[in-house]
Amino acid sequence: MPGIERRDPRMRAEGTFIAVEVDDQVAGDRELAVRLKDACPVDIFALGDQGAVQLVEKNLDECVLCRLCLDASGHTAGTAGSGAVKIIKLYDNGAILA
Ligand code: SF4
Repeated sequence: MPGIERRDPRMRAEGTFIAVEVDDQVAGDRELAVRLKDACPVDIFALGDQGAVQLVEKNLDECVLCRLCLDASGHTAGTAGSGAVKIIKLYDNGAILA
């Protein structure tokens, strides 16, 4: 719409095979950042300076699709993209890990 600036409501980082998105509304949540950092076995999430979620781009393609970050961020099993974190399989036409 003209005159209205649209902003992507998600923080996103892309590797070659995997992209990760975090809902902006919770990206500053320190508790969530700690849960994600502790959950991910390949260190894709870090705790930023201000206690916000940070994505570690160099590790994105190490994702093993374990879903632990989804469990840590309010995902409902079987419903792709229902939580604050989305794992996007770029190698699979952008399918979202459910
Ligand atoms: S699915 Fe597993 S490996 Fe991939 S980002 Fe989430 S916690 Fe890390």
